Amino acid sequence: MAVSTVVNLPKGHVARFPDRCMVCGFVEPNSQSRLITGTVGWWTWLTWWYGKPFVVKVPSCRRCGWLLQARRGFGLLVTFAVIAVVYYWIWPFFKEFVPHGLRKWAMMGIVIACLIPLFVLEFFFAQPAQVTAYADSVDYEFASYDYATDFAAMNRDAAWIKLDGIFMAFRDVEE
Ligand SMILES: [Zn+2]
Repeated sequence: MAVSTVVNLPKGHVARFPDRCMVCGFVEPNSQSRLITGTVGWWTWLTWWYGKPFVVKVPSCRRCGWLLQARRGFGLLVTFAVIAVVYYWIWPFFKEFVPHGLRKWAMMGIVIACLIPLFVLEFFFAQPAQVTAYADSVDYEFASYDYATDFAAMNRDAAWIKLDGIFMAFRDVEE
């Protein structure tokens, strides 16, 4: 089961990433992938209204970058396909039984119910990395625990670092 590690940093802090591919761990990859809040997971479009997208560039091999992109595209495609199927084929059968004021919500409910398999799939195969931006901080989420702790260590000069919700203190004594 995919369990990811979340590193929280101040929004103003320019994050540095370990020089390894965030997907396969390849050292010194020659390319970067853009992570954008709102387009990484298919469901994050729900969070778009929190504010404008936050973008970071994360090291990755060219091939892994393409795979990530393809996966995002696939999730988006499936989402649109499900909405279309619900709207044109499923919804007409339900429509007459739903009171007018509730129709919008009923349709949304059917769409979400149809997307549950995709949601489960995303849960078990976590994205190698994703970002969620809040008003004054950013969550950097990594599927790899090692990558997350290396990332945290590289950003030790930030005003704060939280690893899975717990404040981290780095002692620079050993340096
Ligand atoms: Zn890679």
